[in-house]
Amino acid sequence: MCAKRTLYVSVMTAATLLAGLGPIGTAVAADRSVGPAAEAEETVQSTSGYHVNSYDVRLDYNPAKETLLGEATLDLVVKEWRDALDLRLQLPARSVQIDGKAATFSADKGTLHVKPVARLSPGRHVKVHVAYAGSPRRTLDDPGEDNLAWAATKDGGHYLALETAGVLFPANSDDADRSAVHLQARVPDGWTAISNGRAGTPVKDGDHKVYRWANREPMRAGYVHFGVGNKWTESDTKLPDGTPVHFVYGSGAEGRGRKLAEALGEAASWEASIFGKYRHDSLTVSFLDFEDPNVPNVTGWNTISMGMEYPGDAETQPVTQDILVHELAHTWLEAVQAKDDYVEETIPTYLQWAWKEKFRKADLVTMYRDKVKKIQWQHTNVYTTGDVAMYALRRLVGDNAFDRALKDWLPNHADRPTAWDAFRTSLEKHSGKDLKPFFAGWFPPEGTKPAYPGDDLVWPAWAKD
Ligand SMILES: [Zn+2]
Repeated sequence: MCAKRTLYVSVMTAATLLAGLGPIGTAVAADRSVGPAAEAEETVQSTSGYHVNSYDVRLDYNPAKETLLGEATLDLVVKEWRDALDLRLQLPARSVQIDGKAATFSADKGTLHVKPVARLSPGRHVKVHVAYAGSPRRTLDDPGEDNLAWAATKDGGHYLALETAGVLFPANSDDADRSAVHLQARVPDGWTAISNGRAGTPVKDGDHKVYRWANREPMRAGYVHFGVGNKWTESDTKLPDGTPVHFVYGSGAEGRGRKLAEALGEAASWEASIFGKYRHDSLTVSFLDFEDPNVPNVTGWNTISMGMEYPGDAETQPVTQDILVHELAHTWLEAVQAKDDYVEETIPTYLQWAWKEKFRKADLVTMYRDKVKKIQWQHTNVYTTGDVAMYALRRLVGDNAFDRALKDWLPNHADRPTAWDAFRTSLEKHSGKDLKPFFAGWFPPEGTKPAYPGDDLVWPAWAKD
C-alpha cells in the first residue's frame, strides 16, 4: 500500500454492500473505512499517481443481451513518475491507446494495467483511450456471480447506482479523484436511458436513439448512475431557484413517484436555507420499482435513485417523502469528504425529522420518546439513532447554537476530509458546552459495539413523560 495513502477504501462486492446498507444509502455510505493514518493527515493525496481531468464515454447498450459496448477517453495528468497506469475496469478491455498509440495492457480482475511506451513524467498530460465490451451483470472482480448492483426493475429495466466506477467505464483507481464526466448512450428506439448531469436532446440514429449528458463540475466517477428501461416516462421541471430537474418514473411507479416528488421544491428551498444555494447545475430523480426491495435509495452527486419500498422490521415499507428529503440533502453534503459514516448519514437522517416537524407538524418529543423505547441498542447504526441523537443534541445545546452549527457545516468542510468530531467542536464553540460525554455516548467510535448511551443521555428532563 502506498505510504502516502491516507484514506483506506475497502472495495466490497455489491452483495455485501446491499446487505450492509440500511433503508437509505449513498453511493459511498458503506464502502469506506478510515485507516489509522487518516486522523493525522488532512490532505487526501492521489493514490493512483494521476488525476483525471475528464472522462468522455460512449456506450452502446443492447437490451436483449444486457451488454455494453464502450469507448472511453480519459484526459489525465500524471502526478508522479509512472511506468504504468492502473485503471478500474470491470468489463474486458479490447484495446488501449495512449495519445493515439497502441499501449500494452493486462487485466487483473477489475484492475486494468496499462503500460505506456515510455515512462510518464509528473505534469505530463495524456489521453488514454479504452475500448471495452461486456455485461454490467458480470464484473471481472466476481465473474461467477450476478452483480446485484445492476438492479432489475419490475418493468424490465435495469439501474446501476452502487459501485459504478469501472462498470460503466474505466475509472481512476483513486475513488476520491474528481473529474468532469461526459457520457452518451445509444439505445434501441423505444428505450430510455438516464444518467447524471445536464441532458441534451436525444438524437435519432437509425433505429436507435443517442442520449447525452454533461457533468462539467468535477465529480467522483463512482457517483455516476446509469439506467435503461423501455416502459419509463420522463418529465422535466425546475427547482425554485431555476435548476432543471429531470424525473423518470418506472411503469406502475408513476402515481407514487409523483406524490413523493411533490415534496421536492419545498424541501430544496428549505435545505438551501440551511446549506446555501443548490450546488449543481441539474438534478435527476428516478422512481423505479425494483424486483428486490433491498435495493437501497442512492444519491450520486446530482442524481437520486428512489426505490418504491425498503425493508422494514417485519415487512417492506413504502418509501415516503422524508426519504426524498434525506437523499436531497446528500446532493449538498457529498461535497464533504466523509471520513466516517456519521459524517455521511447523521445530518440527512436528522433532516427527515426536522422536515416532518417544520412541514408536517410532527411532535418530535413524542416521536423521540416512542422511538428510544423501541430501539434495540445492541443493533444500532447511524440510520437507527441519527434522528434521536441529533434531536437530543439540539435540546441540549439549544436551537440557536444547533442551527448555527448546521449552517457552518458545509462552508467549513466542503471539499475537505472531515470526521464527525468536527461537528462536536463547532457545537461547543456555539454553545459553550462540553459535549464530549454526549458524543461518546451517542456517537461511539465506528467499529466498537453499539451500546446504550445511558439514562442521563437518553432520558433528560424534557424527554421524561
Ligand atoms: Zn443517506
